[in-house]
Amino acid sequence: MRLGIMGGTFDPIHYGHLFVAEESRVRFQLSSVMFIPNGLPPHKQGCEVTPPEDRYAMTEIATASNPYFECSRIELVRSGPSYTIDTLEWLERERPDADLVMITGIDAIAEILTWRRHQEVIQRTTFIAATRPGFDIQYLKDRLPTDYLSRIATIGSTSLGISSTDIRARVQAGSPIRYLTPDGVAEYIKEHRLYLSDGSDMSNPSDVGDPLSAIAASHAVAAGRGQKERTEL
Ligand code: NAP
Repeated sequence: MRLGIMGGTFDPIHYGHLFVAEESRVRFQLSSVMFIPNGLPPHKQGCEVTPPEDRYAMTEIATASNPYFECSRIELVRSGPSYTIDTLEWLERERPDADLVMITGIDAIAEILTWRRHQEVIQRTTFIAATRPGFDIQYLKDRLPTDYLSRIATIGSTSLGISSTDIRARVQAGSPIRYLTPDGVAEYIKEHRLYLSDGSDMSNPSDVGDPLSAIAASHAVAAGRGQKERTEL
C-alpha cells in the first residue's frame, strides 16, 4: 500500500494543493493522501505564519469532500519545530504496512539538503515534487545530488498558478479569492479575519482607485437624479 503524505504550511490551502494531491493519487496509485499541515515550520521561524489551528481547520474543510483524503494533527500536537524526519518516524509506527510517498512543492524539496537528518528522510520516503512555472526538474538537477534525484518524481501543478502567498495578498487588498480555494475556506478566512494584518476590511473590496466603481457610482447618481426628476414631474 502506498500512502501519500501531503506536507505543507497551507497558509491557506487552495485548489493548486488539492489538484496536486488528487493527480498524484491517481497517477502514482496511492491508496489515500494524508494532509499534514505543519505546526511550527522549521524554516519559517521568525516569520509571520497563521496559527496552526486555523491552518488545520481550513485543511479539514478543503479536504472533507474527497473520501481518499484525510488530515493529521501530528505536527500540531508535537512540540517544537515540525521536522519531517519526526513525522516519518511516527508514520512508520502508525502505518507499518505503508510505503510513504511525500508530496510537496518543488522549491521546498530543492532545500532538502538543509533539512534535519535529510539523508534519513530521503531513504524513508520517495517524493513527488509539484512543479510550477519557472520551477521544473532542471531546478532540482541544479541543486541536488543524483542519488537524491532518483528518489524524486515530478508532477505538474497545472497552469493554475495559484499560490498561498497570492491568496494572502489578495485578501489584504480586498480582491476576490473565490474559485482559487474552496468556498468553505474562503468563508473561514472571512469569518476569522485572517490575513488582514493592518485591519483592512474584506467587505468593501472595490472602493480604492477603481475606475469601474467610479463609473458605476456616477451611473447610480444619474439614475437617482432621473428618478427624482420623474418624481417631481
Ligand atoms: P514553503 O516554503 O511554504 O513552500 C515552498 C513552495 O512549495 C511554495 O511555492 C508552496 O506553494 C509550494 N508547496 C508547499 N507545499 C506544497 C504541497 N503540498 N503541494 C504543492 N505545493 C506545495 O514550504 P512548506 O509548505 O512550509 O513546507 C513543505 C514541506 O516541507 C512541509 O511538509 C514541511 O514540513 C517540510 N519541510 C521540512 C523541513 C525540515 O524537516 N527541516 C524544512 C522545510 C520544509 P504555496 O505557498 O502555494 O503552498
